[in-house]
Amino acid sequence: MSEKFKNLINGEWKDSKSGNTFENRNPAQWNEDLIGIFPSSDKEDINEAVAAAKAAFEKWRLIPAPRRGDILKVVGDKMLERKDEIAYERTREMGKVFAETKGDVQEGIDTAYYAGSEGRRLFGLNAPSELPNKMNLSFRVPIGVGGFITPWNFPMAIPTWKIFPALVCGNTCVFKPAELTPKTATTLVEIIDTAMREVLGRDYIPGVINIVHGKGRIVGEAMIAHPDIDLISFTGSTPVGKRINEVAGASLKRVSLELGGKNAQIVMNDADQELALEAVLWGAFGTTGQRCTATSRLILHKDIYDEFIGKLVKKVKKLKLGYGNDKGIDVGPCVSEAQRETVNSYVKIGKEEDKAKLVAGGDYAKDDALSKGWFYEPTIFVDVKPGMRIEQEEIFGPVLSVIKCNDLTDAINILNDTPYGLSSSIFTKNVNDAFVAIRDIKAGITYVNGATIGAEAHMPFGGVKQTGNGHREGGWTVYDFYTEWKAVYIDYSGKLQRAQIDNY
Ligand code: NAD
Repeated sequence: MSEKFKNLINGEWKDSKSGNTFENRNPAQWNEDLIGIFPSSDKEDINEAVAAAKAAFEKWRLIPAPRRGDILKVVGDKMLERKDEIAYERTREMGKVFAETKGDVQEGIDTAYYAGSEGRRLFGLNAPSELPNKMNLSFRVPIGVGGFITPWNFPMAIPTWKIFPALVCGNTCVFKPAELTPKTATTLVEIIDTAMREVLGRDYIPGVINIVHGKGRIVGEAMIAHPDIDLISFTGSTPVGKRINEVAGASLKRVSLELGGKNAQIVMNDADQELALEAVLWGAFGTTGQRCTATSRLILHKDIYDEFIGKLVKKVKKLKLGYGNDKGIDVGPCVSEAQRETVNSYVKIGKEEDKAKLVAGGDYAKDDALSKGWFYEPTIFVDVKPGMRIEQEEIFGPVLSVIKCNDLTDAINILNDTPYGLSSSIFTKNVNDAFVAIRDIKAGITYVNGATIGAEAHMPFGGVKQTGNGHREGGWTVYDFYTEWKAVYIDYSGKLQRAQIDNY
């Protein structure tokens, strides 16, 4: 019998109202490892969860923010105690290697402690009044019920980036995780709910955190259209983000969108090549290329083009594919059969439509042990030209496109010429070139002599252009998304004072 999981609604773990379910399987051992059975929910389950979150909000917003922060510190402690176990299950569920899933859990822990401490800040601002005997204050107030819709590639870190700041600010949560990673999401919610019960004791408020499993086009759609959800925070693909913006925007919900990327690493002719090689291997093939910040383009200076590619291909051919919980594995499987088919279809486009030159990979991994899962060979196309589809469109798999550039200006123009703008990187020893790149690259994140991936939890995270709608997660910036500013004027003059009129 496989384990059966439930939704958490109003403090109670329960099946979907319809009783429908879906399976979650290990992408490295598809037929052999059934992880669990999860509720496939409907609009009615969302309605119940939103009603619970709405009622809970009136109590939760009155819990002092430092106390809400105390809960998050306990959440961080519990995640730390269970770090290896959560990472193991994460790898089993999603496929990336154990060292990386540990990093994903650590990012959640860091976010818990950061958000926990924010309970004692959440600073407001005061400004002098233009009138005598009058005081002006402004402070943050929570917004209400938040709807959180997340992808499968960082199933621990991404929900924590959203839910922890939302909670410490005094909002309540309805969480719909990706269908491919429901177990990690359930573990996270179970930890939050347990910490709430422990810290609040008899004052525990059911309905502050709710999780509703199911399909995006059913559960997700019900959330974005729900009149009692006040804000939506979404991370996922750009087409779904656009749809969410249209529907949620129609009722003027606050919407934060973190979407796709087509990130590039530039390597100049003066760069430390060994370092740049290590970075591109990690950036392009870590998490099997399924990161929003993955290096999917490598822009090489013409002077080092052939030499660098020669070294890179040798290293890529040595990468060891396998189940990420086994020792010595570099690259896990694609998350699903459908994702692997998308990768393969882009490889076909690269060969047949773009006519780029394939120098590594380009097929399903055929080894016996690998045939049990959705493995794809780490793939490199060279002589890719700006504008080709594999150079412009997000593939979200282990495929790297290499493009030749003439100089720094050319490199930056190539890097900027996509619809996306999430992460970027330049390898150079020339300090002037580095600063020009920092200034001129159009992306939310730029690394100098580092891979395109590896964001830190206390820094702003997000992108420009079609990567998002201008909000940032992480660090101090996210608190603006989860609060409204309230301006307060206190007049202690004892008379009616009219701003702009009596004083000018
Ligand atoms: P996806 O857009 O298919 O799904 C994301 C979530 O949206 C899932 O929970 C899904 O069920 C839900 N969803 C799908 N259709 C919906 C609808 N009509 N209404 C409401 N919800 C709906 O993305 P994915 O395949 O899970 O993740 C990969 C994508 O996420 C890539 O494009 C990647 O770049 C992006 N991503 C971006 C960031 C970032 O911070 N910018 C981080 C990670 C992933």
